[in-house]
Amino acid sequence: MLQRRKTREIRIGRHKIGGHNPILVQSMTSTLTEDLNGTLAEIQRLEAAGCEAVRVACPNDAAAANLSAIKKAISIPLIADIHFSHRLALMAIEAGVDKVRLNPGNIGGKKKVQEVTRAANDRGVSMRIGVNSGSIEKDLLEKYGWPSPESMVESAMRHVEMLEELGFYEFCISIKSTDCRTLLEANRELARRCEYPLHLGVTEAGLPGYGSLKSAVGLGSLLMDGIGDTIRVSLASDPVEEIPVCFDILKATGRRVVSPELIACPTCGRIEIDLQKLVNDVKARVEAKHPTLPVKISILGCVVNGPGEASEADIGIAGGKGSGVLYRGGKQLKVVKEHELLDALMEEVEALPRGA
Ligand code: SF4
Repeated sequence: MLQRRKTREIRIGRHKIGGHNPILVQSMTSTLTEDLNGTLAEIQRLEAAGCEAVRVACPNDAAAANLSAIKKAISIPLIADIHFSHRLALMAIEAGVDKVRLNPGNIGGKKKVQEVTRAANDRGVSMRIGVNSGSIEKDLLEKYGWPSPESMVESAMRHVEMLEELGFYEFCISIKSTDCRTLLEANRELARRCEYPLHLGVTEAGLPGYGSLKSAVGLGSLLMDGIGDTIRVSLASDPVEEIPVCFDILKATGRRVVSPELIACPTCGRIEIDLQKLVNDVKARVEAKHPTLPVKISILGCVVNGPGEASEADIGIAGGKGSGVLYRGGKQLKVVKEHELLDALMEEVEALPRGA
């Protein structure tokens, strides 16, 4: 796996992103921001699910007017999503948001961008330049013929140059596409062209099942390349469902592991224990007792792959005939009867040094 890409570090409320900081998990509310209570209730559910920064749409004055109350009521960083209006950006900054998502090239010229960067500088507010395949400038579409990776990178770099000319560097960039190949090409090129942190997302990924898979392909590939400092999975569903998917993608890529990982075989004609029941029982027990323990547990049905996988895991089981061999740290401990395997494995989990 490639080293994580070296980037500048920027602030977002109490967090920093980029550099060596953990890859941050974000989401966006689906409520109207004008609906204060509904928006707060959704953010509370997102926070409880582990969301680490939340974006809210800010399309009008009524939405902007609620930002201050939202900021005061939540404990994760707040990002205002703004399009075309420098006035709304100034209102959001004044309201105390931690970050503004806006494209400086779309808010009415250099003077207005300068007003926004000055206010952001004064308040310690960062920005995200967000380029989407659906909103590429007309001249770039004409030049490239379609929202190509090149057109999106060129669009992003225009915004970057605009901020840099004004001496503003506290920003990250995102290039999102619904097409994974376009997403990969564009972000790889952008990563070569600048040192700003990158926020990743497959935009409009779809319903939870396929949307999660598509996001895993797009975000996972970039994360394996070492690219990506914050992520969002955009599902056509309750945004709370996005959070575990984000953490699972980070876990599967090994970029950030903050919960138990279970490795289990699909079973085959060699199986002689009820492996699926055991795996489900272990998952339920470990996640209930140690939801944030980054322990790796392998449960395999037989000795074909069991010992090998166990040597890569903190704790392992290789099934046998109505029994299983228990491993810890790659070493065989003992043979355990099938009905005692769950308790025996949990004893080993409890005995692990914390922080393992
Ligand atoms: Fe089959 Fe054994 Fe592989 Fe499981 S570990 S799939 S039981 S060969």
